[in-house]
Amino acid sequence: MMRFLIFLGCWLPMLPALAWNGAGHRIVAVIAWQQMKPVTQQRVSILLAAHPDYARWREKAGTHDPAAIFAEASTWADGIRHDDRYHDAGRGEPTPPLAGRFDSRRQRHWHYADRAADGRPTKGELDRQIVRLSRLLGSADDDEQTYALPWLIHLVADLHQPLHVGRSDDEGGTRVTIENPFNRRQPFITLHAYWDDLPGPSSLRGRRLQREAGRLLAAYRPPAQGNVDLWREESWQLHAMAYPQQAGSLLPIVDEAFHRRATTTAERRLAEAGYRLGRLLESRLHSVVSRETAR
Ligand SMILES: [Zn+2]
Repeated sequence: MMRFLIFLGCWLPMLPALAWNGAGHRIVAVIAWQQMKPVTQQRVSILLAAHPDYARWREKAGTHDPAAIFAEASTWADGIRHDDRYHDAGRGEPTPPLAGRFDSRRQRHWHYADRAADGRPTKGELDRQIVRLSRLLGSADDDEQTYALPWLIHLVADLHQPLHVGRSDDEGGTRVTIENPFNRRQPFITLHAYWDDLPGPSSLRGRRLQREAGRLLAAYRPPAQGNVDLWREESWQLHAMAYPQQAGSLLPIVDEAFHRRATTTAERRLAEAGYRLGRLLESRLHSVVSRETAR
């Protein structure tokens, strides 16, 4: 057993701690897309089409359907961590701006907003960046809007993942190993990865993705829109139920009641993020769209 635990200790820190997995981000995007008026959807598509990575999103979507391309853009902020056209600021040689003008920094610290046990903010800029990028999206500059859009699609979803407003002492659950008997192929994972993967298989696309988003839209009514402060506090409050108990086991263990509660909570947070993202984009782009149609 001891040898097994040492083995676990070696590989667990190498697991990626990103965000909701691909399924989670795409579900949020599909819900958000349906909250926008056709004229706003059209504006969003025009802005995305001007992004240096647009061709990649279209290729991954395997279709010209603007809603599917929008959904592919939702995981871009995680994908650039493994893309050598992008760089980590302060580590090695910086890569040149994309298409000569788009920021090529990975901005890993934008994906979370961690806190000390007393609630004091410690590391990460997730909440602050959503505020800043929302402002950029409302600006009159097309490049700024194109730059801000894929970031916002991703980060609004991240802020609704409870462990992205994490405790700094366990780095948002990335240093907590749990036993999850509901995943036979990977029963020992970090608590953070457990939450990231609750939305389902990360390859979820196409009709199954539409069905899943439709199911959540039917199950959850639109929440109060609130603001970034509310979304962040909601995630922090969920910590009270986000950690499984040790229950005489070697590691904290996921039992049936916990798994059911966590799955329902994750689904509700995805729905909330989708509704709110859609309304945020609608409100930020509405004035721009109205200005253009007035011309
Ligand atoms: Zn993320």
